[in-house]
Amino acid sequence: MKANTPALIFQNGTAVLPDRLVPDAVVVCEKGRITAVGPTRKTKVPRGANVIDARGGYISPGFVEMHVHGGDGADYMDGTEEAIRIANRAHTRHGTTSIFPTTTTGSPAQLDAMLNACIAVRRDWTIADGARLPGIHFYGPYFAEDKVGAHSPKGRRDPVVSEYTEYFQRGIIKIATCAAELPGAEAFYKAAKKSGCLVTCGHSNSSWTEMERAYRAGMRHVDHFWCAMSSVASLRARFGTPMQASMEEFVLMHREMSTEVIADGHHLAPALLRFAYVMKGADRLCLVTDSNRALDMPPGEYRIGPEDGTMFISDGLVGRMPGGPLASSIMGMDHMVRIMARDTKAPIHDVVRMASLTPAERAGIAKKVGSLEKGKLADVLVLDRKLGVKRVFIGGEEFSTKRRA
Ligand SMILES: [Zn+2]
Ligand SMILES: [Zn+2]
Repeated sequence: MKANTPALIFQNGTAVLPDRLVPDAVVVCEKGRITAVGPTRKTKVPRGANVIDARGGYISPGFVEMHVHGGDGADYMDGTEEAIRIANRAHTRHGTTSIFPTTTTGSPAQLDAMLNACIAVRRDWTIADGARLPGIHFYGPYFAEDKVGAHSPKGRRDPVVSEYTEYFQRGIIKIATCAAELPGAEAFYKAAKKSGCLVTCGHSNSSWTEMERAYRAGMRHVDHFWCAMSSVASLRARFGTPMQASMEEFVLMHREMSTEVIADGHHLAPALLRFAYVMKGADRLCLVTDSNRALDMPPGEYRIGPEDGTMFISDGLVGRMPGGPLASSIMGMDHMVRIMARDTKAPIHDVVRMASLTPAERAGIAKKVGSLEKGKLADVLVLDRKLGVKRVFIGGEEFSTKRRA
């Protein structure tokens, strides 16, 4: 926002703070930052400000997405600036204002193209591009062979030091995943931690012992809880008896471990969403979409990842691989927020925290974004009473939510 732009005030709505709701609130923004939040009767507003009427709905922080593959026909692994922008804009229409494009399995050339395209989009960002791109989630290709899930097994490999060292040097990777049982995982985690990443274990069949070693190397997060991860049963197949504790027990036992759920209503039943929320709490559980290119596209056949990726069928609600396994989600963050609120009965401020401040904290960007707090960027949503996205502001500038604007 330009220095001479008038101040913005959001009013006539309930402000969603990390720990409570403020009914009849006003949020004041100046020069692209939040300068005051409080009840209308107690908060001073500058003269001549542009007034945004929330019409009795919610004034919410913009959503922060840490695990997402694409949208509106584009996958980040298409590796072009256009694809990155198309997917980012699609997610912005669903309320996401900070996004971490996520790699899948793929060749070094495909990963290189994806990283370069994201670097260019971040460098040349304008409001027309939608959500800001604070970094990349380096997710594939270091998955366990038996937990590749919907991703192409061809592009999977064990960690390659020369490969990831070079990627980390580019300075855009902020979240880094590797399966803990792979040879070289520990060195990968240490390198990721050294580059300031949130270090995560995913697409893994690792045991408690392997998780302990990973934890000592800096691992603090597990991708999409209950999906493509170990369980007592899966480890019994690996080690026999006595049965071994798995990633599940490790995450639930360690307060410092965070995780994420795909709350699209298809991956996890209400009791599991509620269980994850109660066990980890709103400050350790993140909502992610894990959405792919079929978001906002008609039902049909789509591809996960780069040009030699795997195919799946979208029915307009969820994607499935041949034979029935789920192929990530095809919904935006606003949908996840609505399903989480419906299925867990958690307070709205907790649900919104899981889609904003918690992922921002875990990914290391909470000083700038993630909540309606004085000094943070004016990334603000106007939601209706049913948590539908009405208007989206990034750094105090409004993003046009019309498709292909
Ligand atoms: Zn996954
Ligand atoms: Zn994913």
